[in-house]
Amino acid sequence: MVIAAPPDPAGLVQDLRAFLDETSAEVPGSVSSRNGRRIVNATTERLQRYFRALERAMPRRSIAALSAQWAQVIPSDREASDGEVAQIEQQARAIISPSVDALSDRLETLLSENGAVAYTESARQVQDAAVKEFGLPAPEVPQFSCPARFVEVIPGIRDLPVPEEIRQFARAWSTGRVVGLDETSLTELSETIARALRQKNRGVADVARALRAKFDSFSDDRAALIANTEMNSMMSTAALEKGLSLGSTQKTWITVGDDRVSQQICEPNEADGRIDIRGAFGSGHTNTPGHPRCRCSIVTLGATRASVAEGVSPAGQQSFLRLVGTTAVIGLIVEPILRPPPGEQEVEPEA
Ligand SMILES: [Zn+2]
Repeated sequence: MVIAAPPDPAGLVQDLRAFLDETSAEVPGSVSSRNGRRIVNATTERLQRYFRALERAMPRRSIAALSAQWAQVIPSDREASDGEVAQIEQQARAIISPSVDALSDRLETLLSENGAVAYTESARQVQDAAVKEFGLPAPEVPQFSCPARFVEVIPGIRDLPVPEEIRQFARAWSTGRVVGLDETSLTELSETIARALRQKNRGVADVARALRAKFDSFSDDRAALIANTEMNSMMSTAALEKGLSLGSTQKTWITVGDDRVSQQICEPNEADGRIDIRGAFGSGHTNTPGHPRCRCSIVTLGATRASVAEGVSPAGQQSFLRLVGTTAVIGLIVEPILRPPPGEQEVEPEA
């Protein structure tokens, strides 16, 4: 959404609210938009397959051997000490690490491809909305679109290649994300093994059961959490950069407006109203997501009919592609991604 600056800054959020039917579901470039949710769902499914592959890749014999060994070392009638638990964790980590590493490329490819689609789709939505808003003719240069296999996922999308600039940015971005995600997986899995071996009357079967439950929660919860958070990051980055290229000078934070929105981060950011497009909101974020599972989005403002016309011209499209990824500040996402701080977690959007 690119909207000319209204005369009343204080009423801005209220005006937008009324206009957007009190939800960011209609905000172009929002993860809560219909296509945004489709992208999140497609990413969730790929992540679920990745986690199942990781489960199959677990070195079961080595984990069983480690478990059997510790079950013998520690008398079954007492709990493992903190020192012993730490040792188990360290050894489990060493055993599991190669499996996580072996699937790193797959995770990176997944995030990079879906991230590129999310970015592309968001930029397309923002541009289409601006062109429509100012009553401009359709741009001469066809708007880039998504690869063939996303055409089914996202109706109305043409099968055009994602521009190389967006691919490159998505690749660089996903490399950074995967390091953190792998670290969280390793920590979670080695802690799971150590916890199962802490209890009295421990056995190999306890470890197997605990790992199984952990992978179930990876598939059920963590996949959706990662998909939502990371695709939000890509879509809001695109909305911001597309907005800049269309001549926007300010931005505002839009929540979905329900009672599950984070009152520590997202509501105050929305209450900041419009701020400089390169500035930071009260929470320190320059962009959504404000936290894992955040459903908020960014709306840029201040574009004019002339600036949008220039932005969608062939030269403007080229300069947008040069801008891709240059203003992204995506390291501000709250980490670790599996454990959002208490009270800051929004419930996952309904499918
Ligand atoms: Zn939020």
